[in-house]
Amino acid sequence: MKEQKSRYYKFSEYLRKYFGVRVHKVTIDAGFSCPNKDGTKSSQGCIYCDNRGFSYPVRNTHQRQGTSNGTRILPKPIESQIKQGIEFARRRFKAEKFIAYFQAYTNTYAGIDVLKQTYDNVRKFDDIVAISIGTRPDCVDEDILDLIQTYTRDYEVWIEYGLQSIHNKTLKLINRGHLYEDFLKAIEMTKKRQHIKICSHVIIGLPDESKEDMLKTAKALGELKINGVKIHPLHIIKGTKLEELYKEGSYKPLGLDEYVHLAVEFLEFLSPDTVIQRITADCPREFLLAPEWILDKNRVLQEIEKRLLKEKRFQGRLCS
Ligand code: SF4
Repeated sequence: MKEQKSRYYKFSEYLRKYFGVRVHKVTIDAGFSCPNKDGTKSSQGCIYCDNRGFSYPVRNTHQRQGTSNGTRILPKPIESQIKQGIEFARRRFKAEKFIAYFQAYTNTYAGIDVLKQTYDNVRKFDDIVAISIGTRPDCVDEDILDLIQTYTRDYEVWIEYGLQSIHNKTLKLINRGHLYEDFLKAIEMTKKRQHIKICSHVIIGLPDESKEDMLKTAKALGELKINGVKIHPLHIIKGTKLEELYKEGSYKPLGLDEYVHLAVEFLEFLSPDTVIQRITADCPREFLLAPEWILDKNRVLQEIEKRLLKEKRFQGRLCS
Protein backbone atom coordinates (compact mmCIF):
# COMPACT_ATOMS: atom_id res chain seq x y z
CA MET A 1 0.00 0.00 0.00
CA LYS A 2 1.28 3.44 -0.79
CA GLU A 3 0.15 6.83 0.39
CA GLN A 4 -1.03 9.03 -2.49
CA LYS A 5 0.23 12.60 -2.83
CA SER A 6 -3.32 13.66 -1.99
CA ARG A 7 -5.08 11.47 0.52
CA TYR A 8 -7.16 10.04 -2.28
CA TYR A 9 -6.47 9.65 -5.99
CA LYS A 10 -8.38 12.51 -7.54
CA PHE A 11 -9.50 12.45 -11.15
CA SER A 12 -7.97 15.90 -11.69
CA GLU A 13 -4.59 14.53 -10.57
CA TYR A 14 -4.95 11.56 -12.92
CA LEU A 15 -5.88 13.76 -15.89
CA ARG A 16 -2.95 16.11 -15.28
CA LYS A 17 -0.59 13.18 -15.09
CA TYR A 18 -1.81 11.55 -18.32
CA PHE A 19 -2.63 14.51 -20.51
CA GLY A 20 -0.49 17.32 -19.09
CA VAL A 21 -3.18 19.94 -19.80
CA ARG A 22 -6.55 20.85 -18.36
CA VAL A 23 -9.07 18.22 -19.48
CA HIS A 24 -12.80 18.50 -18.93
CA LYS A 25 -15.76 16.20 -19.44
CA VAL A 26 -18.43 17.18 -21.93
CA THR A 27 -21.71 15.44 -21.16
CA ILE A 28 -23.85 14.04 -23.93
CA ASP A 29 -27.44 12.85 -24.01
CA ALA A 30 -27.39 10.60 -27.04
CA GLY A 31 -31.09 9.85 -26.80
CA PHE A 32 -30.80 6.29 -25.53
CA SER A 33 -33.40 4.75 -23.31
CA CYS A 34 -32.93 2.32 -20.43
CA PRO A 35 -34.28 -1.24 -20.20
CA ASN A 36 -35.19 -0.54 -16.60
CA LYS A 37 -37.46 2.30 -17.69
CA ASP A 38 -38.87 1.26 -21.04
CA GLY A 39 -40.62 -1.88 -19.79
CA THR A 40 -38.00 -4.41 -20.89
CA LYS A 41 -36.84 -5.00 -17.31
CA SER A 42 -39.31 -2.71 -15.64
CA SER A 43 -41.05 0.54 -16.34
CA GLN A 44 -40.39 2.11 -12.94
CA GLY A 45 -36.62 2.48 -13.12
CA CYS A 46 -34.34 2.59 -10.11
CA ILE A 47 -36.18 4.12 -7.15
CA TYR A 48 -33.93 7.20 -7.11
CA CYS A 49 -33.76 7.71 -10.87
CA ASP A 50 -34.72 10.80 -12.70
CA ASN A 51 -32.05 11.54 -15.25
CA ARG A 52 -32.83 15.25 -15.08
CA GLY A 53 -30.93 15.20 -11.82
CA PHE A 54 -27.75 14.07 -13.53
CA SER A 55 -27.54 16.18 -16.68
CA TYR A 56 -25.04 18.99 -16.56
CA PRO A 57 -24.33 21.41 -18.19
CA VAL A 58 -26.22 20.60 -21.40
CA ARG A 59 -29.70 19.66 -20.25
CA ASN A 60 -32.27 17.76 -22.22
CA THR A 61 -35.29 19.97 -22.18
CA HIS A 62 -37.34 17.81 -24.51
CA GLN A 63 -39.78 15.19 -23.30
CA ARG A 64 -38.39 11.68 -23.71
CA GLN A 65 -41.24 9.39 -24.60
CA GLY A 66 -42.17 5.87 -25.55
CA THR A 67 -38.69 4.57 -26.25
CA SER A 68 -38.35 0.85 -26.62
CA ASN A 69 -35.31 -1.37 -26.89
CA GLY A 70 -32.71 0.58 -28.83
CA THR A 71 -35.04 3.26 -30.19
CA ARG A 72 -33.42 6.64 -29.94
CA ILE A 73 -34.98 10.03 -29.62
CA LEU A 74 -32.36 12.68 -30.01
CA PRO A 75 -32.85 15.59 -27.61
CA LYS A 76 -30.52 17.69 -29.77
CA PRO A 77 -27.95 16.60 -32.38
CA ILE A 78 -24.97 15.03 -30.64
CA GLU A 79 -22.54 17.13 -32.64
CA SER A 80 -24.11 20.36 -31.39
CA GLN A 81 -24.18 19.08 -27.80
CA ILE A 82 -20.44 18.38 -28.01
CA LYS A 83 -19.71 21.70 -29.65
CA GLN A 84 -21.70 23.59 -27.05
CA GLY A 85 -20.14 21.57 -24.20
CA ILE A 86 -16.62 22.25 -25.46
CA GLU A 87 -17.25 25.98 -25.81
CA PHE A 88 -18.70 26.09 -22.29
CA ALA A 89 -15.78 24.16 -20.74
CA ARG A 90 -13.20 26.28 -22.58
CA ARG A 91 -14.84 29.46 -21.32
CA ARG A 92 -15.71 28.40 -17.80
CA PHE A 93 -12.85 26.03 -16.89
CA LYS A 94 -10.12 27.05 -19.36
CA ALA A 95 -10.08 23.44 -20.52
CA GLU A 96 -7.89 22.56 -23.50
CA LYS A 97 -8.83 18.94 -24.13
CA PHE A 98 -12.07 17.08 -23.60
CA ILE A 99 -13.64 13.80 -22.64
CA ALA A 100 -16.84 12.97 -24.51
CA TYR A 101 -19.07 11.55 -21.81
CA PHE A 102 -22.10 9.61 -23.00
CA GLN A 103 -23.94 10.05 -19.76
CA ALA A 104 -27.73 10.01 -19.86
CA TYR A 105 -29.54 6.70 -19.44
CA THR A 106 -27.92 3.53 -20.93
CA ASN A 107 -25.40 4.33 -23.61
CA THR A 108 -24.88 0.82 -24.96
CA TYR A 109 -28.58 0.11 -25.31
CA ALA A 110 -28.93 -0.14 -29.10
CA GLY A 111 -27.72 -2.14 -32.05
CA ILE A 112 -24.05 -2.04 -33.05
CA ASP A 113 -24.65 0.22 -36.07
CA VAL A 114 -26.49 2.80 -34.02
CA LEU A 115 -23.83 2.70 -31.32
CA LYS A 116 -21.04 3.16 -33.84
CA GLN A 117 -22.82 6.04 -35.54
CA THR A 118 -23.35 7.64 -32.13
CA TYR A 119 -19.80 7.27 -30.81
CA ASP A 120 -18.30 8.31 -34.17
CA ASN A 121 -19.52 11.86 -33.53
CA VAL A 122 -16.45 12.38 -31.35
CA ARG A 123 -14.21 12.02 -34.40
CA LYS A 124 -15.43 15.41 -35.63
CA PHE A 125 -13.60 17.14 -32.76
CA ASP A 126 -9.80 17.25 -32.70
CA ASP A 127 -9.57 18.22 -29.04
CA ILE A 128 -11.39 15.19 -27.71
CA VAL A 129 -8.83 12.88 -26.13
CA ALA A 130 -11.06 10.42 -24.32
CA ILE A 131 -14.48 8.80 -24.44
CA SER A 132 -16.49 7.69 -21.45
CA ILE A 133 -19.58 5.53 -21.85
CA GLY A 134 -22.06 5.18 -18.99
CA THR A 135 -24.13 2.01 -18.98
CA ARG A 136 -25.62 -0.86 -16.99
CA PRO A 137 -23.64 -4.05 -16.42
CA ASP A 138 -26.39 -6.13 -18.06
CA CYS A 139 -26.28 -4.04 -21.25
CA VAL A 140 -22.96 -5.09 -22.73
CA ASP A 141 -21.90 -8.15 -24.67
CA GLU A 142 -18.80 -9.27 -26.57
CA ASP A 143 -19.84 -7.45 -29.79
CA ILE A 144 -20.47 -4.16 -28.02
CA LEU A 145 -17.18 -4.38 -26.16
CA ASP A 146 -15.38 -5.22 -29.42
CA LEU A 147 -16.83 -2.05 -30.92
CA ILE A 148 -15.81 0.05 -27.91
CA GLN A 149 -12.35 -1.48 -28.05
CA THR A 150 -11.85 -0.06 -31.57
CA TYR A 151 -11.89 3.48 -30.15
CA THR A 152 -8.93 2.71 -27.90
CA ARG A 153 -6.67 3.11 -30.93
CA ASP A 154 -7.32 6.85 -30.94
CA TYR A 155 -8.73 7.68 -27.51
CA GLU A 156 -8.50 6.82 -23.89
CA VAL A 157 -11.71 4.85 -23.40
CA TRP A 158 -13.67 4.38 -20.19
CA ILE A 159 -16.79 2.35 -19.62
CA GLU A 160 -18.79 3.32 -16.54
CA TYR A 161 -20.90 0.57 -14.99
CA GLY A 162 -23.67 1.48 -12.58
CA LEU A 163 -23.39 -1.01 -9.74
CA GLN A 164 -24.43 0.96 -6.61
CA SER A 165 -24.10 -2.01 -4.23
CA ILE A 166 -22.77 -5.56 -4.31
CA HIS A 167 -25.75 -6.77 -2.26
CA ASN A 168 -28.52 -8.37 -4.29
CA LYS A 169 -31.06 -7.63 -1.55
CA THR A 170 -30.32 -3.92 -2.01
CA LEU A 171 -30.31 -4.12 -5.80
CA LYS A 172 -33.77 -5.69 -5.56
CA LEU A 173 -34.99 -3.08 -3.09
CA ILE A 174 -33.86 -0.19 -5.26
CA ASN A 175 -35.21 -1.92 -8.38
CA ARG A 176 -31.95 -2.01 -10.30
CA GLY A 177 -33.16 -4.93 -12.41
CA HIS A 178 -29.77 -6.68 -12.39
CA LEU A 179 -27.68 -8.67 -9.96
CA TYR A 180 -24.15 -8.28 -8.66
CA GLU A 181 -23.28 -11.32 -10.77
CA ASP A 182 -24.15 -9.32 -13.91
CA PHE A 183 -21.59 -6.74 -12.85
CA LEU A 184 -18.92 -9.40 -12.29
CA LYS A 185 -19.63 -10.86 -15.71
CA ALA A 186 -19.37 -7.43 -17.36
CA ILE A 187 -16.07 -6.78 -15.56
CA GLU A 188 -14.68 -10.11 -16.69
CA MET A 189 -15.67 -9.48 -20.31
CA THR A 190 -14.31 -5.93 -20.26
CA LYS A 191 -11.01 -6.89 -18.66
CA LYS A 192 -10.31 -9.17 -21.63
CA ARG A 193 -9.90 -5.96 -23.62
CA GLN A 194 -6.84 -4.52 -21.96
CA HIS A 195 -7.25 -0.95 -23.12
CA ILE A 196 -10.79 -0.27 -21.93
CA LYS A 197 -10.73 1.30 -18.50
CA ILE A 198 -13.52 0.48 -16.07
CA CYS A 199 -15.22 2.87 -13.70
CA SER A 200 -17.93 1.72 -11.30
CA HIS A 201 -20.68 3.87 -9.78
CA VAL A 202 -21.61 3.19 -6.18
CA ILE A 203 -24.02 4.83 -3.77
CA ILE A 204 -23.52 5.39 -0.06
CA GLY A 205 -26.67 5.59 2.05
CA LEU A 206 -28.93 3.16 0.20
CA PRO A 207 -32.08 2.08 2.08
CA ASP A 208 -31.64 -0.70 4.63
CA GLU A 209 -27.86 -0.89 4.15
CA SER A 210 -25.72 -1.02 7.27
CA LYS A 211 -22.26 0.48 7.46
CA GLU A 212 -20.86 -3.06 7.15
CA ASP A 213 -22.87 -3.61 3.94
CA MET A 214 -21.47 -0.41 2.43
CA LEU A 215 -17.91 -1.25 3.38
CA LYS A 216 -18.27 -4.74 1.91
CA THR A 217 -19.02 -3.04 -1.41
CA ALA A 218 -15.84 -0.97 -1.01
CA LYS A 219 -13.83 -4.05 -0.15
CA ALA A 220 -15.13 -5.95 -3.18
CA LEU A 221 -14.20 -3.04 -5.47
CA GLY A 222 -10.79 -2.88 -3.80
CA GLU A 223 -10.22 -6.54 -4.59
CA LEU A 224 -11.34 -6.10 -8.19
CA LYS A 225 -8.83 -3.25 -8.55
CA ILE A 226 -10.91 -1.54 -11.17
CA ASN A 227 -9.56 1.66 -12.69
CA GLY A 228 -12.05 4.18 -11.39
CA VAL A 229 -14.93 4.68 -8.97
CA LYS A 230 -17.66 7.28 -8.69
CA ILE A 231 -19.06 7.50 -5.18
CA HIS A 232 -22.42 9.23 -4.71
CA PRO A 233 -24.39 10.01 -1.59
CA LEU A 234 -28.00 8.94 -2.09
CA HIS A 235 -30.21 11.97 -2.50
CA ILE A 236 -33.89 12.32 -3.14
CA ILE A 237 -35.02 13.79 -6.42
CA LYS A 238 -38.57 15.09 -6.63
CA GLY A 239 -41.02 12.80 -8.33
CA THR A 240 -39.11 9.57 -7.74
CA LYS A 241 -40.19 6.48 -5.85
CA LEU A 242 -37.60 7.41 -3.24
CA GLU A 243 -39.55 10.58 -2.54
CA GLU A 244 -42.55 8.43 -1.59
CA LEU A 245 -40.42 6.33 0.78
CA TYR A 246 -39.01 9.50 2.31
CA LYS A 247 -42.42 11.07 2.77
CA GLU A 248 -43.92 7.99 4.37
CA GLY A 249 -40.92 7.88 6.73
CA SER A 250 -39.39 4.62 5.53
CA TYR A 251 -36.24 6.27 4.17
CA LYS A 252 -34.06 8.80 5.90
CA PRO A 253 -31.11 10.33 4.02
CA LEU A 254 -27.67 10.51 5.61
CA GLY A 255 -26.51 13.65 7.35
CA LEU A 256 -23.36 15.32 6.04
CA ASP A 257 -21.25 14.07 8.91
CA GLU A 258 -22.44 10.49 8.48
CA TYR A 259 -21.70 10.64 4.76
CA VAL A 260 -18.22 12.07 5.28
CA HIS A 261 -17.45 9.39 7.83
CA LEU A 262 -18.61 6.59 5.50
CA ALA A 263 -16.94 8.04 2.40
CA VAL A 264 -13.59 8.19 4.23
CA GLU A 265 -13.90 4.59 5.35
CA PHE A 266 -14.99 3.57 1.85
CA LEU A 267 -11.85 5.11 0.35
CA GLU A 268 -9.64 3.16 2.68
CA PHE A 269 -10.78 -0.18 1.26
CA LEU A 270 -10.25 0.82 -2.37
CA SER A 271 -7.00 0.21 -4.20
CA PRO A 272 -4.67 3.24 -4.06
CA ASP A 273 -4.49 3.03 -7.86
CA THR A 274 -8.24 3.40 -8.37
CA VAL A 275 -9.03 6.90 -9.60
CA ILE A 276 -11.83 8.57 -7.67
CA GLN A 277 -13.78 10.23 -10.44
CA ARG A 278 -16.39 11.57 -8.09
CA ILE A 279 -17.04 11.59 -4.36
CA THR A 280 -20.15 13.68 -4.06
CA ALA A 281 -23.28 14.39 -6.07
CA ASP A 282 -24.36 17.04 -8.55
CA CYS A 283 -28.03 17.82 -8.55
CA PRO A 284 -29.75 20.98 -9.73
CA ARG A 285 -31.50 22.74 -6.82
CA GLU A 286 -34.89 22.66 -8.52
CA PHE A 287 -34.89 18.83 -8.67
CA LEU A 288 -33.57 18.11 -5.17
CA LEU A 289 -35.84 17.30 -2.27
CA ALA A 290 -33.28 16.24 0.34
CA PRO A 291 -30.72 16.35 1.85
CA GLU A 292 -29.90 20.05 1.40
CA TRP A 293 -26.16 19.61 2.05
CA ILE A 294 -25.79 17.91 -1.35
CA LEU A 295 -25.99 21.38 -2.90
CA ASP A 296 -22.81 22.55 -1.19
CA LYS A 297 -20.38 20.40 -3.11
CA ASN A 298 -17.27 22.29 -1.99
CA ARG A 299 -18.17 21.86 1.63
CA VAL A 300 -18.62 18.11 1.20
CA LEU A 301 -15.21 17.85 -0.48
CA GLN A 302 -13.57 19.98 2.21
CA GLU A 303 -15.09 17.93 5.02
CA ILE A 304 -13.80 14.72 3.45
CA GLU A 305 -10.30 16.21 3.07
CA LYS A 306 -10.38 17.49 6.65
CA ARG A 307 -11.41 14.13 8.07
CA LEU A 308 -8.75 12.26 6.08
CA LEU A 309 -6.07 14.66 7.26
CA LYS A 310 -7.18 14.86 10.89
CA GLU A 311 -7.43 11.10 11.29
CA LYS A 312 -4.34 10.39 9.14
CA ARG A 313 -6.33 8.15 6.82
CA PHE A 314 -5.92 7.66 3.10
CA GLN A 315 -7.24 5.69 0.16
CA GLY A 316 -5.92 2.14 0.09
CA ARG A 317 -4.94 2.03 3.76
CA LEU A 318 -7.10 -1.05 4.34
CA CYS A 319 -6.94 -2.54 0.85
CA SER A 320 -5.46 -6.02 0.81
S1 SF4 B 1 -30.20 2.17 -14.79
FE1 SF4 B 1 -29.78 4.38 -14.77
S2 SF4 B 1 -31.16 5.26 -16.30
FE2 SF4 B 1 -31.88 3.18 -15.88
S3 SF4 B 1 -33.47 3.43 -14.32
FE3 SF4 B 1 -31.56 3.03 -13.24
S4 SF4 B 1 -30.61 5.03 -12.80
FE4 SF4 B 1 -32.25 5.30 -14.34
